Amino acid sequence: ITKLLLEHNVRATINQILSEEIVQLLGLEYNVEIEIKKKEASEEYDFVADQVSAREEDKVLRAPIVTFLGHVDHGKTSLLDCIRKTKVAEGEVGGITQHIGAHKVETNGKHVVFLDTPGHEAFTAMRARGANVTDVVVLVVAADDGVMPQTEEAINHAKAANVPIIVAINKIDKPSANTLRVKQQLSNLDLIPEEWSGKTPFVETSAITGAGIDTLFELLWLESEILELKAIPKNPARGVVLEAHLSEGRGVVANVIIQDGTLHQGDIILCGRTYGRARLLIDDKGKEIKETGPASPVSISDFSDIPEAGDKFYVVSDIQKAREIALEKRNKDRETSLAKHQHITLDNLYSMIADGNVKEIKIILKADYKGSVEVLKKALDALSTSEIKVRILHSAVGGITESDVLLADASDALIIGFYVTAEEKARLLAEEKGVEIRLYKIIYDATNEIKAAMEGMLEPEK
Ligand code: GDP
Repeated sequence: ITKLLLEHNVRATINQILSEEIVQLLGLEYNVEIEIKKKEASEEYDFVADQVSAREEDKVLRAPIVTFLGHVDHGKTSLLDCIRKTKVAEGEVGGITQHIGAHKVETNGKHVVFLDTPGHEAFTAMRARGANVTDVVVLVVAADDGVMPQTEEAINHAKAANVPIIVAINKIDKPSANTLRVKQQLSNLDLIPEEWSGKTPFVETSAITGAGIDTLFELLWLESEILELKAIPKNPARGVVLEAHLSEGRGVVANVIIQDGTLHQGDIILCGRTYGRARLLIDDKGKEIKETGPASPVSISDFSDIPEAGDKFYVVSDIQKAREIALEKRNKDRETSLAKHQHITLDNLYSMIADGNVKEIKIILKADYKGSVEVLKKALDALSTSEIKVRILHSAVGGITESDVLLADASDALIIGFYVTAEEKARLLAEEKGVEIRLYKIIYDATNEIKAAMEGMLEPEK
């Protein structure tokens, strides 16, 4: 087996943990069918399982978790600030907002949680780490500027994550605002307003005057009712780290969002490769609290080490066990990083297809001109067969950027460049993440190579 692995450029020792893809590959080589069983989180930590309920009658509706996406300067941060100022001040007299990665807003007894870091890079970086925290995306488009390149990028990042979109046409206070034009532009991108018999909720806002903010809240509640977001408050807490740092006086502080269950002061927490006790809980208004439930942002200290953004955390019953698992995870990470995660590439495509692992080839397409983007999109679409669909996750004019690589990493996609190159940072990130970038100068070469790869007839790269 180790010899075979070497042929696939994986240097492994006998007690090394291999990635799923590599294991599947071995199965193919030895003609053995491999079934990978994934553990549920509660199963994984079986010593907490007896306390975990999955009963329908224990479930309650929870607040939606929302991220603002959109082109730079279209008003994402201003809208967040506007909401914070009006709504938070309303609910919590004298409360001072703390930046703990997210904040929970209450109006009329209903809650919405807003993530503090807007933008699709942060959104997709979290997703690449396996943490899908966002329930609803608010796409911010300035009424005067209209749809811009990063608007399209944001739409495609949200779509690739399967997260529903609500459109906020912002800056309607400006004399140059043209909301009709924005609606037309977005309709061309498949975001059709409900008033035009489409499915996308639209709201017109101004972060300056506060217009439309109440309507935005109503739309968010409506969307969360449709999504039926539920959690079980009596379960032990689990969630995701939004941000973590070392703080003088508080030790390692992690700002997290609780996705399910209730976190109590003193709970033992296992978090990625770290563990600890929730000694001090501080909420988004800067108040010290004793416990907090589902869909709440909270700042926790103290941990054994600094966890990473996107790490999942679980409350467990035994600190000794938490320490052991954290240590085991640390060793495992070290080993698996050697046999690093292999994304889809033209070289492994056929074996993945044959294996039944791949039903869809996801592609991010960047080209020099709008015309070449359109032609290539058509040509690649035409490669879809009844078994394998070619799906263009994102296509745009311009060089390959870090954001493209992040999307490819989170979605397991290939990047194809036509008469463009990859930015240095993008190239390095792709190398690190094992994302394949293929550059072409002839359309026929691109389609031909992908077709050949789909059929398992790709010539080895020279
Ligand atoms: P972001 O890059 O999307 O986070 O955009 P910002 O929130 O930083 O806003 C960019 C600029 O647009 C700032 O100068 C804001 O004051 C301004 N701005 C944001 N929203 C509005 C709005 O509704 N009306 C007007 N007139 N200006 C706005």
